[in-house]
Amino acid sequence: MTNEAWGKLREDLIKRIGRNNYTTWIEPIRLAEVRGPLARFEVPTSFFGDWVSRNFADHILKHLNASGQEVSRLEFFVPATEAAAPTARALAAPGKPRPKLAQRRPAADDDLPGAALDARFTFDSFVVGKPNELAHAAARRVAEGGPVIFNPLFLYGGVGLGKTHLMHAIAHELNARQPDLRVLYLSAEQFMYRFVQALRDKQIMDFKEIFRSVDVLMVDDVQFIAGKDSTQEEFFHTFNALVDQNKQIVISADRAPGEIKDLEDRIKSRLQCGLVVDLHPTDYELRLGILQQKAEFYRQQYPGLQIAQGVLDFLAHRITTNVRVLEGALTRLFAFASLVGREITLELAQDCLADILRASDRKLTIEEIQRKVAEHYNIRLSDMIGPKRLRNIARPRQVAMYLAKQLTPRSLPEIGRRFGGRDHTTIMHGVKKIEELMSTDSQLNDDLNLLKRLLQG
Ligand code: ADP
Ligand code: MG
Repeated sequence: MTNEAWGKLREDLIKRIGRNNYTTWIEPIRLAEVRGPLARFEVPTSFFGDWVSRNFADHILKHLNASGQEVSRLEFFVPATEAAAPTARALAAPGKPRPKLAQRRPAADDDLPGAALDARFTFDSFVVGKPNELAHAAARRVAEGGPVIFNPLFLYGGVGLGKTHLMHAIAHELNARQPDLRVLYLSAEQFMYRFVQALRDKQIMDFKEIFRSVDVLMVDDVQFIAGKDSTQEEFFHTFNALVDQNKQIVISADRAPGEIKDLEDRIKSRLQCGLVVDLHPTDYELRLGILQQKAEFYRQQYPGLQIAQGVLDFLAHRITTNVRVLEGALTRLFAFASLVGREITLELAQDCLADILRASDRKLTIEEIQRKVAEHYNIRLSDMIGPKRLRNIARPRQVAMYLAKQLTPRSLPEIGRRFGGRDHTTIMHGVKKIEELMSTDSQLNDDLNLLKRLLQG
């Protein structure tokens, strides 16, 4: 069999394995020789050979046999250096440069195309509270570097809740415990960027080899690749290759795998295979804990700066958006106070942080309450406001009135207007009714708690 014959034959493989796989894996390999039942192929690296052997050997064999070759075994080998392997070289297609990887030494850790780690993002500096304790525990477990128990670890949660912090902490810890471990952290955006660059520079094999040679892969903000088809495809293959090798993968996203739109179903289900943990919105205690820790740090930075009692408490109550904003507020506060040389008082904080405080005042509207309650009880929003007196509509309406009174600063007449122009006494009656029922009706209590949580979350 000649190289030309192989050339024709391998084109047939495109149909079977797809253009992408073909270009990546089949095009670069060269038929070196056929010796009896053995066909020997030249591959750029041994990793590459393993991959082709594991994934495509059956296809290649089938095609060889179908074309009349009595081959039953395939061998993939990396040609020795130029001088030592004249035969293999001579057989390589003329004119085409050989894949650059052939002489490539295995990448050292420094070659990994990861993102820089923030030295401050350690487990030590991570404050643990109820909302993040599971995520923290899972991250700790991965950072121990023991046998892989869940793969991937999927961390998700809103912006600024500590996902990146935890991932960096894992990387720091692993690097400290096992310096030889190849830990690669990068954002999904960087993954895409590298991938596109590799495609452009025709170095997709380098790319694949690097990503498949790591021990721990961490990809941050994976929702970024939603809707980006070829990046998703590549990510999927990388992911599977590493899982097959039992290498740990850690992924983060701003929402649960199932909720990421435009992400292929097979990727979603792969992502759900491991441990999925969410970071909940911070609660008051966690925020206070974080503020205390940061304040301690700043006290060392700005010795002599006083912070009045109650300031941190005030901030923890008022800035509920996310930790990044909370930190930003404290940073500004200390910087400002040190500039003007004053003690950090409540008044100073209110002045200096007016914009942040205003932005984080979440104004819950009566309409939002009505909508949520209607949704919860499965009634129409129009009935919530309308005149119907049926129990199954009137009760939810009263619940909404009660919540409007509890959760907004609106007066009874104002609430009445928003409930289809009802009199304030009607509202008062509704609120009272719910308060009465609350003491006996545990179902109602559960409903109220849930609704409050949803509305204030
Ligand atoms: P995410 O990646 O979830 O958007 P980050 O990890 O970037 O959030 O966190 C935002 C900022 O808040 C970082 O400076 C981080 O150190 C800090 N932070 C978040 N959660 C905590 C925590 N539990 N303890 C200490 N700092 C935290
Ligand atoms: Mg992040």
